[in-house]
Amino acid sequence: MVATTIGIPHISTGEMLRQNVADETPLGVQAAAIMEKGDLVPDDIVVAMVAERLNRPDAGCGYLLDGFPRNTVQAAALAAEAGSDALEVAVLLDVADEVLIARLLARAEELGRADDNEETIRRRLDVYRAETEPLAAWYPEHGVPVLIVDGVGTIAEVFGKVVAPLAEAR
Ligand code: AMP
Repeated sequence: MVATTIGIPHISTGEMLRQNVADETPLGVQAAAIMEKGDLVPDDIVVAMVAERLNRPDAGCGYLLDGFPRNTVQAAALAAEAGSDALEVAVLLDVADEVLIARLLARAEELGRADDNEETIRRRLDVYRAETEPLAAWYPEHGVPVLIVDGVGTIAEVFGKVVAPLAEAR
């Protein structure tokens, strides 16, 4: 919804990886077991995938990265690839673990994602805490503001809270 409203492509590394798993590409075969456990796919694989995607013409006028970067190694690789001033803002959706677990278990019924079971969800939250959360401090240190949005509420409410400040900045 945010990408559509701004008119830029939505680039989700999770979605790209799930497509590779469904297509049984060599990358997908390698990534499937890692994703099912809730661990991160190796940085070099994900970075190469994003670099290739950013070089396509539709990403020339901006893009929304979703689920990438997941750690500071990926963030530094992105800065090297796209330029250190490529990012306008990083958005942190803030939701308590128990709310996230309930949401993802509900989504499991809806989408049947292999990684939406309680054990994997807890592992993904641990990985988030250890690997991804440090980006909330890393980005401001590297000149990118972090927009912290309370992610509890309806889709429309959270969407409004994300898009209003972004639209204002443009
Ligand atoms: P997501 O759809 O963003 O929740 O991602 C689902 C799963 O794909 C994650 O739990 C990881 O196993 C893998 N994945 C997605 N994005 C990345 C990334 N940037 N780096 C490493 N693994 C990723």
